[in-house]
Amino acid sequence: MELRNGFDLKKYIRTIADYPKPGIMFRDITTLIADPLAFRATVDEMVWPFLRTRIDYVVGIEARGFILGGAIAHELGLGFIPIRKKGKLPGETITRSYQLEYGEDAVEIHKDALAHGEKVLLIDDLIATGGTALAALALLEDTGADVVASCFVVDLPDLGGKAKLLETGVKVHSLVEFEGE
Ligand code: AMP
Repeated sequence: MELRNGFDLKKYIRTIADYPKPGIMFRDITTLIADPLAFRATVDEMVWPFLRTRIDYVVGIEARGFILGGAIAHELGLGFIPIRKKGKLPGETITRSYQLEYGEDAVEIHKDALAHGEKVLLIDDLIATGGTALAALALLEDTGADVVASCFVVDLPDLGGKAKLLETGVKVHSLVEFEGE
């Protein structure tokens, strides 16, 4: 279901070449969320498939996943739980490391944020190689939560992240695609 009312959401996403390093086409959603109608259409379309799904919490990945996830949680009448970069959460955490092109990164969640079997909708702005989302999924698995689906504004299909996520059995909902990296 498209709720874009003739909006071409892709037109609101700005591409910045060679950021953060040469060769990367950075798909910048700040221009999308700055527009009130495009922002609303995006959030509506992200939640649409899940309006009748039992979900206990919306989980967003730092940082753009917080902006979208907060709006989505509010729209679904649910609470929001953050997954943050290492060292940012004040309470006791669990951690998952993942490989970047150069080096390693880690994501964390509060240990007591979710109980076994609680149903979660996972949100980020974009899926590229899938490294971040797979680490977030593993982290949620560690808590015992049940990830009902994952949801992104942008998919970069040439980088294969969505396919990897689907292989794990999790549903993936994304709104627009850009070819290349
Ligand atoms: P990945 O782990 O490779 O799937 O990358 C996903 C994460 O990195 C998301 O949190 C995105 O915000 C960010 N990201 C990766 N590639 C891009 C890109 N080309 N444009 C904008 N954000 C990106």
